[in-house]
Amino acid sequence: MARYTDSSCKRCRRAQEKLFLKGDRCYSVKCPLSPNNKRNTTPGQHGKPAGAKQSDYGLQLREKQKVKQAYGVMEKQFRKYYVLSLKKQGVTGETLLQYLERRFDNVVYRLGFASSRKEARQLVTHNHFTVNGKKVNIPSYLLKAGDEIEVKSKSRKSPKFIGLIEAAGGKNVPDYLSVDYEKMSGKLLSLPTRSNIDLPVEERLIVELYSK
Ligand code: SF4
Repeated sequence: MARYTDSSCKRCRRAQEKLFLKGDRCYSVKCPLSPNNKRNTTPGQHGKPAGAKQSDYGLQLREKQKVKQAYGVMEKQFRKYYVLSLKKQGVTGETLLQYLERRFDNVVYRLGFASSRKEARQLVTHNHFTVNGKKVNIPSYLLKAGDEIEVKSKSRKSPKFIGLIEAAGGKNVPDYLSVDYEKMSGKLLSLPTRSNIDLPVEERLIVELYSK
C-alpha cells in the first residue's frame, strides 16, 4: 500500500499551512508553523519564505497537494474521487471534499478516536472499529448518513483508547457527527457540507488544475 514517507512537518511547511498531521504536537509551540516559530519557510536548502509569489499553476498544485496530504490520500485515489465528483450534481470541488470527509479514517479522527488521520488509519487497519456492528478495516471505506461507528468491545479497555478518549474530551466534533465517549461510539448524522470542513483550501483551484 502506497503511503507518504517524508516528514509530516515538511509536508506542512511545503504547503505553508498547518495540516495537523502529528496529533498533539500540532497544537503546541513545537509546531514549526506556530506563530512563535521562526522556521516559516518551505523545506530545503533554498526554501522560500511563506507568502512568496507563485504562478497560477503553482497555486493550483499547492492546493491539490495540501488536500491530498492532509487526508493522506495518494494521487490515484484522489483522482478517483475527482472523477466521481464530476459525475455528481453540485459543485465539483465541494463534492470532492465531501468524499474525503466521508472516509472512515477521517471520521474516526474527527470523532476524536485518534489524534491524527495517520493514527486513525492505523487503528482502522488494526481492526479496532465496527460500522453498524460489522467489522470494517478499510481506511478508505465511505460512510453514509446514519452509519454508526463503535470501538470494538475488546479494544475499549486498552490504555491506548482510554488515553485517546481523555484527550478527545476537549476537542470539537463537527456538526455532522455525534459522539458518545462513554459508549465509545459515534454516528454520521448527515453528509458533511462545505461549512463543516475546516481545512483552509480553495478547492476550485484543484478543479481548475484537473480540468486542463
Ligand atoms: Fe508538524 Fe503538525 Fe505543525 Fe504540521 S501542524 S508542521 S505536522 S506539528
